[in-house]
Amino acid sequence: MRSRDPVGMRPRWQTALGLLIVLCAALVTPLLPGAAPGAERDTRRRPAERQADRDGMVAVVERYGLHDAVVLAAMRAVPRHEFVPDVEQPLAYADTPLPIGYGQTISQPFVVAEMTRLLQLTANSRVLEIGTGSGYQAAVLAQITPDVFSMEVIKPLADEAAARLKALGYSTIQVRHADGYYGWLEKAPFDGIVVTCAAGQIPPPLLAQLAPGGRMVIPVGSAFAVQDLMLVTKDKDGTVRSQSLMAVRFVPLTRLDLKPQPR
Ligand code: SAH
Repeated sequence: MRSRDPVGMRPRWQTALGLLIVLCAALVTPLLPGAAPGAERDTRRRPAERQADRDGMVAVVERYGLHDAVVLAAMRAVPRHEFVPDVEQPLAYADTPLPIGYGQTISQPFVVAEMTRLLQLTANSRVLEIGTGSGYQAAVLAQITPDVFSMEVIKPLADEAAARLKALGYSTIQVRHADGYYGWLEKAPFDGIVVTCAAGQIPPPLLAQLAPGGRMVIPVGSAFAVQDLMLVTKDKDGTVRSQSLMAVRFVPLTRLDLKPQPR
C-alpha cells in the first residue's frame, strides 16, 4: 500500500504534504473498526480478498434451494478464509466443514446459511450462539444484527475467535468462555438461539432464555453420530413446538462440570 517511490526524487512541498497525510492517517487509524494493533502487518487481514471464491460458495448454497437474500448477502460478505487455518486456505470456500484445531470444526457453509435462515433474524434481533469455534457463524449473524452473543467452552478457541472478530471489525459481538448449556442469563431473552454443537437433548436453560416468538436451531442426538437438526419455536403465549428438519453431523456439546475431575 505504501508508495515505493524514493522520497528524495519528489519536490519538497510534496514530501511535506505526504508526511502530513501519513501523520493524520496514523492518528485516525486506531479509531477505525478492524484496525487492531498488528492488523496492518498481518497479510491475511484483507476481508475484501477472495470475493470471487465467496460468490462461488454462495452460488453453491443457492443451488441447494436457499434463496433468502439477507442470508446470502451475509454469506457473501464474511471472509471465511480469515476463520480457517493456513493449511486449509485452498478449501476455505469449499462447501465442506474444516478443522479449526482442538478437535473442532467450522461448519459447512450451507449448514451455516440454513441455520441462519431458520432463525429469521431482523436487524433488531438479539441472538445467542452456543459454540463460537472460529467465530465464523457469529460473524454471519452479525452481518444481520449487531446484538450477537456467542459462548465457547474451549478457552483458547474463545480467545482466538474474540481477537479475530475484533480485528475484522465485528466489534459488537460478545464472546464468553463458558459452558453454553446454561446459556447467558444476564443477556436473555434471545429472539434467536443457534447451537452449533450436538446436544443429547434441548438444554432447558436455553429454552427458558428463548423469548416469546423466538426461534432456536439445535442439532439433537448422540455425539459422533448423525443428529437431527431441530427448529424449536416459542409462541407469544409461551407454547413450545419443535420439528426435526434434516440430518446433520456436529461435534458434541461438552459439559464443563461433567468432565472427569483430576484426582
Ligand atoms: N460455530 C463455529 C463452529 C462450531 S464447532 C464456527 O462457526 O466456527 C462447535 C463448537 O462448540 C466447538 O468450538 C466446541 O468447543 C463448542 N462447544 C462444545 N460444547 C460447548 C458448550 N457446552 N458450550 C459452548 N461451546 C461448546
